[in-house]
Amino acid sequence: MESSERKSVCIIGGGIAGLASAVFLDAYGYKITLIERKPVLGGRTFSFKDKITGFEIDNGQHLLMGAYHETLRLLDMIGSRSQILIPAKNRVPLINQMGEMDYFHIPQLPQPFNVLIAFLRLNCFSWKDKLNLFKIKKALKNHNPQKFLKSTVKQWLILMDQSEDAIINFWTPLTLATLNESVDVASAHHLLTVLQKGLLGGAFDSQFLIPKKSLNALIGNPAQTYLEMRGHKIIKSTSALHLHVLDNIVRELECSNGEKIKTDYFVSALPPRGLLKIIPKGFVDSLTYFSGIKKLKFSPIISVNLWFDQNFIPELFVGASSTKTHWFFNKNRISDIQGPPYHYVGVLSAAYDLLETPGHVIKEMVLNDLYKLFPEGKKAKLLHSLVGKEREATICHSTETETYRPFQQSPFENFFVTGDWTQTYLPATIESAALSAKIACGHIVSSFS
Ligand SMILES: Cc1cc2nc3c(=O)[nH]c(=O)nc-3n(C[C@H](O)[C@H](O)[C@H](O)COP(=O)(O)OP(=O)(O)OC[C@H]3O[C@@H](n4cnc5c(N)ncnc54)[C@H](O)[C@@H]3O)c2cc1C
Repeated sequence: MESSERKSVCIIGGGIAGLASAVFLDAYGYKITLIERKPVLGGRTFSFKDKITGFEIDNGQHLLMGAYHETLRLLDMIGSRSQILIPAKNRVPLINQMGEMDYFHIPQLPQPFNVLIAFLRLNCFSWKDKLNLFKIKKALKNHNPQKFLKSTVKQWLILMDQSEDAIINFWTPLTLATLNESVDVASAHHLLTVLQKGLLGGAFDSQFLIPKKSLNALIGNPAQTYLEMRGHKIIKSTSALHLHVLDNIVRELECSNGEKIKTDYFVSALPPRGLLKIIPKGFVDSLTYFSGIKKLKFSPIISVNLWFDQNFIPELFVGASSTKTHWFFNKNRISDIQGPPYHYVGVLSAAYDLLETPGHVIKEMVLNDLYKLFPEGKKAKLLHSLVGKEREATICHSTETETYRPFQQSPFENFFVTGDWTQTYLPATIESAALSAKIACGHIVSSFS
């Protein structure tokens, strides 16, 4: 396309959804201006330098799956797919209530044998639980999203005749890890989607993937280089303030640096509250598209970084059902870095009750959890620690949520809404953010052609 003919797009927000929108639209020849409030790109997937050690720390440990097709496509395009670790053994170590190690190990076999064997090998499943897996398989095959929308994961598991042991030792850590919510609150519909996409897709779809280096190295930095090399404009440390809308068309965006951006299309890649702030007040109250967004609720994640002089976690990562800390990640093993120091990250999902607890109290609690799971850790010296709270890590995947997630086409003709929280029928994850971008870009491209 000649540059004079190129249609222009302003993308508001530089998280995965914004970056994916920019990269996907670049492929169709659009001219992009991207506005990001923070000095770094990546949104909720970012890294920062720890002031004391100088180490680059992620805001939170992220796990991906082979089923993240749009995310992997994005990483391929920006050239950072090699930053992903594909563990040689596709297994999730889980320490049960009795302190015993169990493995959810998906062998390299064709579907559905790989998944079947993974479940049959689980020690925390009784024979009755294993026999009742056929009910789960049937439910997955006939998965109609509406059917289980209003059931919690717990209610659905009881319907599937899963025992209390299986719920506590397997389904609870899985639900917390994938939906950032407890089995009592999370919607069964979301867990079914995770199982369907992750376990019943292609063989690679069930593969766990872990970023090897920092999140900045995986997403923010390579995406910025990719876009700037193609001549697009990225304006960081600048907030979008107001959209001006006339005759159902967004005419311009006013920014905190005084700029007024006029483009053919506008894409919001903002979090829900951020979006509502830039929409003219009258529309938020009068259009159900926007007023529904107000009702979305959020779920937090707390990450506790710990550095020791000795290594005592033998796995890449491990889940636990008897402690308040749900997961521990071994960063040296993941990044292939020699210690000391040995860096572990404890993750507490849906940690609503700890949001107002001081960091030093949370650190002590997580240390106790770590020593309970790995008693030899008591011999190691704690060198440094850092507690991070992400209050709005994801939307809360409750039984109400789906009603309020908006589609990507907004009521304004040239304005599209992306983000992990928009309606993709996936849980709010990196993949949902990338997929929402693909859908929004599809609308733009088809409206132009
Ligand atoms: C601790 C933690 C752990 C997680 N673990 C996983 C995991 O293991 N696997 C997984 O798939 N997902 C995980 N997630 C979720 C994942 O990070 C998100 O789904 C994804 O990053 C959302 O991307 P997004 O682009 O939709 O939104 P965001 O990343 O929130 O992007 C929104 C952007 O808009 C910017 N912005 C806000 N207001 C303005 C304004 N007025 N003007 C300009 N810019 C603005 C923000 O600064 C931000 O950069 C985790 C999240 C957290 C916090």
